[in-house]
Amino acid sequence: MEKESYDMKSMTLDEIKTIITEMGEKSFRAKQLYEWMHIKLARNYDEMTNLPKSLREKLTKNYPYTSLREVMVQTSKIDGTKKYLFALADGNYIESVWMQYHHGNSVCISSQVGCRMGCRFCASTLDGLERNLTPSEMLDQIYAIVRSTKERVSNIVVMGTGEPLDNYDNLLRFIQMVSDENGLHISQRNITVSTCGIVENMRRLADEKLQITLALSLHGSTQEKRQELMPIANKYAIDEVIDACRYYFAQTGRRITFEYSLVGGINDTEADAENLCKLVSGLNCHVNLIPVNPIKERDYVVSEHRNVLCFQNKLEKKHINVTVRREMGRDIDGACGQLRRRFGDLN
Ligand code: SAH
Repeated sequence: MEKESYDMKSMTLDEIKTIITEMGEKSFRAKQLYEWMHIKLARNYDEMTNLPKSLREKLTKNYPYTSLREVMVQTSKIDGTKKYLFALADGNYIESVWMQYHHGNSVCISSQVGCRMGCRFCASTLDGLERNLTPSEMLDQIYAIVRSTKERVSNIVVMGTGEPLDNYDNLLRFIQMVSDENGLHISQRNITVSTCGIVENMRRLADEKLQITLALSLHGSTQEKRQELMPIANKYAIDEVIDACRYYFAQTGRRITFEYSLVGGINDTEADAENLCKLVSGLNCHVNLIPVNPIKERDYVVSEHRNVLCFQNKLEKKHINVTVRREMGRDIDGACGQLRRRFGDLN
């Protein structure tokens, strides 16, 4: 297989050192360049004023350097959440979300342009998958938001558009770079990757023994219920997925998060809650209930408030850690499942 070649901002410090010395430059220039990209968040080579002009010119010519272009920002009137629309160098668009919590600021990034997983309740998948994002395009969502808000980011959730484990190599490189002490240096413990459950890649990720949190989108507590909502369930049986979660915990010691979107009349009954308790019993986990965010293309409705409370209560009685997700940015279509692929006309 041909080795994938990365753009400059997707390269590790060691890779850049090799390039720089092959260019006949001193190796400390690599560190300077890396700092400009990943700490000072430069938008182009010209901003890198302590690099010799001749080097900047050579780099510009031979190593394309792109940054996201901010197209639109919407701010929620309810909670101050901001949704960003960015244009990529090839003209595609992606969305990212910035959220403020007591414990710090969180950025929710996209991992692909579109998505091919087809979950029935999610807007991100409606137009299919266009392409994977590169490591630099994932990093750049955070960098652009830090530049725009002038605030520190302490948490990252890979829960925007796309299935991160369908873009495995780029995701892994992104995680390593964003947590690297020579870059933004965000603790892996503050990074969450959410997957619809691609079993072999969950196991691969477990073997990397990272300290990130793995969130599994469960949404159904039996194989049949899950199949109704998530096509990926036709490929992997629910027991295999849960086994992969156990394996992740065994390998990393990191507690699993289960995401369960409550859809009125579909998966929010007492029997559903009981099955869920059985399914996850004995697993070190946290269940995050998400009242489904309706999207206009589907007729799923949110669970009634008392059903949400009842569901939560059932889990608590079985001593399962459970919280109801505070939905941020609903009024700007910035909440779970509301990000969508955008096109030139931005409709
Ligand atoms: N592809 C990944 C990450 C993206 S979605 C995954 O499947 O986990 C992030 C979370 O939002 C997932 O749990 C997803 O199932 C959930 N979600 C999608 N659409 C939703 C909606 N309309 N309402 C509530 N949650 C939704």
